[in-house]
Amino acid sequence: MDIILLGPPGAGKGTQAQRLERTRGMVQMSTGDMLRQAVKVGTPVGLKAKAVMEAGELVSDSIVSALIGERLDQADGTGAIFDGFPRTGHQAQALEILLGERGRKLDRVIELEVDEEALVERITGRFACANCGASYHDRFKLPQQEGTCDVCGAHEFKRRPDDNEQTVRTRMAEYRAKTAPILPYYEERGLVRRVDGMASVEEVAATIDGILDDPGSLSR
Ligand code: AMP
Repeated sequence: MDIILLGPPGAGKGTQAQRLERTRGMVQMSTGDMLRQAVKVGTPVGLKAKAVMEAGELVSDSIVSALIGERLDQADGTGAIFDGFPRTGHQAQALEILLGERGRKLDRVIELEVDEEALVERITGRFACANCGASYHDRFKLPQQEGTCDVCGAHEFKRRPDDNEQTVRTRMAEYRAKTAPILPYYEERGLVRRVDGMASVEEVAATIDGILDDPGSLSR
């Protein structure tokens, strides 16, 4: 099953994608994570993307589409969870082609609906385990034992450089201008299911599970 999680930055796409990886053996395909890794390693893609990401703007369609193509060829798993991709109409078309070339097609687009103002608080408070990437939040989800990752026990944590208010506002504006307009394209094909992204992580997870477990709602 191949699905897209769609929603503005901070809507909870990464958290839900990580959970679906754990519970269903699906593979999270986050272009943001791939780009951050490229920046860290200093690859040619990383060098190009760094400043664009720090400004909260979008990296070129050809770069991110190529990253997804490579990832699709490596991944096994029971299906892909596209997280942060596609973000433009061109990327949506590219995804269609990339999946088609591999005999696959999109099963669901799950839109996480959120209140943008609340997102700023969510995003500026978030951090992650530097070792395994598990997500935490200053207010909503601290590690059970202070300074120790619940999942892997590591003691180092990291924050994203683009999780500051000014960059978040630009990222939201990019979402409204370039990503939200791709929804009607998926709506016409009956693929979109909406989820209240302001509910708790567990409630959102349960709603997503209900959508994925409803065979009647799958269009394959
Ligand atoms: P994310 O982790 O999804 O919030 O992405 C972080 C940043 O990486 C974004 O603000 C963009 O600069 C860049 N990025 C991630 N995915 C894409 C994409 N599909 N298209 C263009 N830029 C992207």
